[in-house]
Amino acid sequence: MATTVGFIGLGNMGGPMAINLAKAGHRVLGFDMSKAAIDALVAEGGEAAADVAQLAAEADVIVSMLPAGKHVRQVYMGEGGILDNAKAGTLLIDSSTIDVDSARAVSAAAAGKSMPIVDAPVSGGVAGAAAGTLTFMVGGEDSAFEAAKPYLDIMGKTIVHAGGAGTGQAAKICNNMILGISMIGVSEAFVLAERLGLDAQKLFDISSTASGQCWSLTSYCPVPGPLPTSPANRDYQPGFAAGMMLKDLKLAQEAAHSSGAATPMGAEAASLYSLFCNQGGESLDFSAIVKFLRGS
Ligand code: NAD
Repeated sequence: MATTVGFIGLGNMGGPMAINLAKAGHRVLGFDMSKAAIDALVAEGGEAAADVAQLAAEADVIVSMLPAGKHVRQVYMGEGGILDNAKAGTLLIDSSTIDVDSARAVSAAAAGKSMPIVDAPVSGGVAGAAAGTLTFMVGGEDSAFEAAKPYLDIMGKTIVHAGGAGTGQAAKICNNMILGISMIGVSEAFVLAERLGLDAQKLFDISSTASGQCWSLTSYCPVPGPLPTSPANRDYQPGFAAGMMLKDLKLAQEAAHSSGAATPMGAEAASLYSLFCNQGGESLDFSAIVKFLRGS
């Protein structure tokens, strides 16, 4: 059944996600701080909302795809925001990658207004957003997950219910903390191999079938040669930018501090990516950390 979907945050990710909802036959009412972003949605069959308040009042379902927790708090809980203007029962889906505490604060406030809500961050990048093949990691009540699933199915391919409020964000940052740490580990091994006179292809052939095997090695090998599809073969054009990895590692550290979890390797990974980004690596693929470790 076609519904009115309000979509807030029509950037690199949100723009194509909103277009996929419109192409599936929904009325999509979009809002962004950037007029160009709204115009791009309108050109593909969407409609422009004047502000968040109008969008919230008209929508049956609201999806948001915003940069960080402070934007999400403001758009949902701020003056003229979603919670003040949407009807009770409006389904809320926040797909931004944000801190767990903000996700849980917004979720609690929405529950107080009888609005079902899920945190549903994604992986899959801009290409996955355009193709409708994103992976959604979803936190929220069972009933909210079931209500959200038909919309997530349009924008994504793999939809996983991770648990209660905030667990979608938790899944995203835990996964990316593994990824950041493992990429540094694989990169260090290639740098050491170079110094020891071990050919990169030989290390790849051995470790990819031995106990060192992991995604950072076999899907995103950080040195050029062994894996032709990895960003290392195209001057480290992303892919997944180091600046985005740093954002997720910082979110993991915030969550570790507020929950009291020990994550010494996660802390070290955040610190190394921070140094790399400060030295100009921010927009390179995150596998370019190998250049930082090697010193060139
Ligand atoms: P983006 O900067 O391209 O888009 C964000 C949009 O939000 C912008 O168009 C901006 O104008 C708009 N915006 C900001 N504040 C607003 C407000 N108060 N009201 C309305 N609009 C507002 O960012 P993106 O790459 O689309 O990323 C969005 C989210 O998705 C982030 O949380 C990011 O971490 C996450 N993410 C991105 C990728 C990726 O590959 N780009 C992958 C996975 C997850």
